Amino acid sequence: MPERDTDARLIDEILSVLLGASCAGCDEPGRVLCDGCRELLRAAPAQRVLTGGLSATAALSFEGVAARCIRAVKEEGSTLLVRPLAAALHEALPSDPKALLVPVPTSRASFRRRGYRVPEMLVRACGRRTARLLAHAGGTEDQRGLGRAARERNVAGSMRARHLGAGEEVVLVDDVITTGSTLVEAAEVLSEAGFRVRGAVALAATPKRR
Ligand SMILES: [Zn+2]
Repeated sequence: MPERDTDARLIDEILSVLLGASCAGCDEPGRVLCDGCRELLRAAPAQRVLTGGLSATAALSFEGVAARCIRAVKEEGSTLLVRPLAAALHEALPSDPKALLVPVPTSRASFRRRGYRVPEMLVRACGRRTARLLAHAGGTEDQRGLGRAARERNVAGSMRARHLGAGEEVVLVDDVITTGSTLVEAAEVLSEAGFRVRGAVALAATPKRR
């Protein structure tokens, strides 16, 4: 993403001072994100292949400063961090402006808790539009704290396509890939509805266990 909005960044900094902010990455007082941590949010896109052959690219590794900043957006409402994170996501998005970017749906409970949808916000901050082809089917428990098998059971039947497709190419977008089960489910639902899923992009993925 181009360094277009110096003004917006200035406003962020003014707000940070007014709000008595500290860096979400390292707690340094003064700004919501210090220069050192901003540097650590540079995209390093990494690809992995999920169950069923779905190829997923993540801009960041979900650890350290990146994980702290993403949690701050998802759990603490720090929406000022959306723009620097979106700059990383932007590097992983397909450059083809016609590719339909389909966000993984946010559960009603998460939307109520936060008041915003993280994948949508990130894509919009990249200057791209989302195609909300998926809806939450409801009834899914919170994924946090569940193991892989439980997550897979949990997402089965958790979403549905809003309408049928006619072979349009789509790319799924999510915030964080943990096991990948949500993206795999999303890809299956869209394929069954008649879309061609080209792959998936996420802001971050949990590092593979070494
Ligand atoms: Zn910092």
